[in-house]
Amino acid sequence: MAVCLLFKDSYFITSIMENSSFDTNAMPKFLGGHVWLAGAGPGDPGLITLLCAHALQRADVVVYDALVGPGIMEMARPEAELKYAGKRGGKPSPKQPDITLSLIEYAREGKRVLRLKGGDPFVFGRGGEEAMRLAEAGIPFRIVPGVTAGVGGLAYAGIPLTHRDHNPAVTFLTGHGASGKVPENINWRAIAEGSPVIVMYMALKHLPNITEKLLAAGRDPDEPVALISRATLPEQTVLETRLSRCVADAAAAGIEPPAVVVIGSVVSFREHLDWLKPRTEGGC
Ligand code: SAH
Repeated sequence: MAVCLLFKDSYFITSIMENSSFDTNAMPKFLGGHVWLAGAGPGDPGLITLLCAHALQRADVVVYDALVGPGIMEMARPEAELKYAGKRGGKPSPKQPDITLSLIEYAREGKRVLRLKGGDPFVFGRGGEEAMRLAEAGIPFRIVPGVTAGVGGLAYAGIPLTHRDHNPAVTFLTGHGASGKVPENINWRAIAEGSPVIVMYMALKHLPNITEKLLAAGRDPDEPVALISRATLPEQTVLETRLSRCVADAAAAGIEPPAVVVIGSVVSFREHLDWLKPRTEGGC
């Protein structure tokens, strides 16, 4: 299978932080009554930051999302209260205002509250909305950035996000607006004409509509496209295709969310840079 998970349990991180010359006192104190809004990275537990691991080992409550990778919650203190706030997995989904309210209530009870999200909390993860509510409620908070799927996922697929000879710019966009439809406030023509590489989050559902808009705006039907599903996890799947046939190919391959879609010539580097492949064949 695919990925070598470098840290199978929290022991590895704990030992780095406590037994090496790494100074845990250099870490900011996680005080009661504070909320830390942290990103857990795209899935592989090895991609969480030391600051996030530190927070997991100190939090009284962890309110976590569906996209927090397997193995990461095991790093939480055994006494910590773990609250699932995800919107997947067949479980009833808590409403966004309820989630934010619970963060405020826990903080007011004097708890150390860790709000843990997949990827980076400020990238298409409603972290900005949650932080605004905390600010309005006068709750002290810290933002802990994480590796976002549109960066980490490409790295694990062997696709350089930028390359000097190919793209001096990248566009990140969401294919799913607040209304549930393709976002209307995206200027698709401007993106099609001006962005050499487009990285799309939450784009599977509306991929037919999005590709149609890009093609209508003059994007090359033969342009390389990659769909990276369950990026950085052992079951990561990468489909390489072309813009004009990516919808049909994705359906035929049964590509499932979560997935990022990359459009641009940098996708072609994967032929040479798929560093996971030899490991897949040779074992971890
Ligand atoms: N805050 C997250 C994004 C949340 S929006 C981040 O920074 O990564 C959810 C979308 O993120 C998914 O629909 C998918 O497009 C992308 N995503 C998150 N984790 C992913 C993963 N492991 N593999 C592929 N895509 C992922």
